[in-house]
This record gives sequence, C-alpha cells and structure tokens, in this order.
Amino acid sequence: MDGNVIRILSRAFGLTLDSNSQSGKKDFQLFANNLLPKAQVAEFNQAMMDLGSAICKAKNPDCLHCPISGLCYAKKHERIQDFPVKQLKKSLKERYFHYLIIQNSKSEYWIHMRQEKDIWRGLHEFYLIEKNSKISLENLHSHIKAELKIKKKPTLEFKFSQKLTHQHIFAYFYAIKGQDIPLKDEFFLVKKDRLKKFAFPKSMLMYINSLS
Ligand code: SF4
Repeated sequence: MDGNVIRILSRAFGLTLDSNSQSGKKDFQLFANNLLPKAQVAEFNQAMMDLGSAICKAKNPDCLHCPISGLCYAKKHERIQDFPVKQLKKSLKERYFHYLIIQNSKSEYWIHMRQEKDIWRGLHEFYLIEKNSKISLENLHSHIKAELKIKKKPTLEFKFSQKLTHQHIFAYFYAIKGQDIPLKDEFFLVKKDRLKKFAFPKSMLMYINSLS
C-alpha cells in the first residue's frame, strides 16, 4: 500500500496500526477498502496520493490548506508527528555458547543440569563458557588452562545456530578427550551410550547424534 495513503489514513482517523509490518499494511488496506466509493475508485486513489504528496507530507504538512482538516484526528489532538505509528523491530540478543565436550580416559562425558532462570532450565548440557562474541581458539585455550587446568588444546567439532523468540544462539562444540581432572561441583560423568537417556536442548542433541 502507498506510503502517502497510509500517512493520511493514520493521521485523519488516528489509526495506530503498525505501518512497518506486513500485517499492519494489510489492515490499512482493509480500512481503505471500506472508504472507497465504488464508482470512483481510480479518482479516490489518485486524490489520496496527491493529497499525501502535496499537502499531508511526512514533515510540515500544510494543514491550513488541507480539504479534510475539519475531520482530521491528528490535527484536532495536535498529534501529527505521532502518526503513522512505526513499531521498531526488536533485535535479537546474540549469545555465544562455547561448549567443552570433556571426556575422561574411560570416554565418560561431563554433563550437568541447567539450573539458572534462563533458557533450557532443567535440561542437560556440557561444560559451557558463554561470551558476548565468539572467542578465538587461543583465548578459549587460555581460559580452559586457567579455569580447569587443562593443558590440551580443544578441537572444534560442531557448530550450530538457533533463533529463539528473543535470542539468537550460536553454539560451538569443542572436544577435549582423555582428561582425568576433578569434576566441578554440579557435574557428573555419563558414558556415550547413556547420553541420550538425558534431556538436552536441540543443539546438543544434534551434536550427540553426530557422535560416531
Ligand atoms: S489536517 Fe494536516 S495532518 Fe490532517 S490530513 Fe490534513 S494535512 Fe494531514
């Protein structure tokens, strides 16, 4: 639908439909259809576009010379700049999950249950390092050395991205094998053939299914 027509309709009738969204534009179209004089559709459309481009302009509309100023909601309520309504699209929060798939010398995996008030609460996961952006392998290695005293360099084995309602998750899975280090508090060991007995988020299930 023409932007000029949307602007006039929203101002004249005080319509708060979102002019940025497809569904909002559809509703504007339905509203306009009800106003159309069936015998003069082409003239009506042309008049609306002329009014929008010459008088009811986006900035500094010429309300003094507007033929519909007497019925205009926005002018009457001095809210011209409030119309048309444009809802800003919310950007998704990006989260970068670096999973360490730690295995001991018996090929048992470190896992734990997510307890925080966050996504995937109550599901299981591997050792997670979350950052605001993807970290390099060198930085990850330094972090692991400091946190877990693991000297071995991790290997990137799998990556996955998933869009949730308000978040975009980027998950990276790094394997570290043969590590017989003390378990962190909430972790426990699970053999590969028993991993699927636990509930995991989708990204981790995909990784587990990819294990040979
Ligand atoms: S009165 Fe002003 S704001 Fe209202 S339709 Fe006319 S030009 Fe637009």
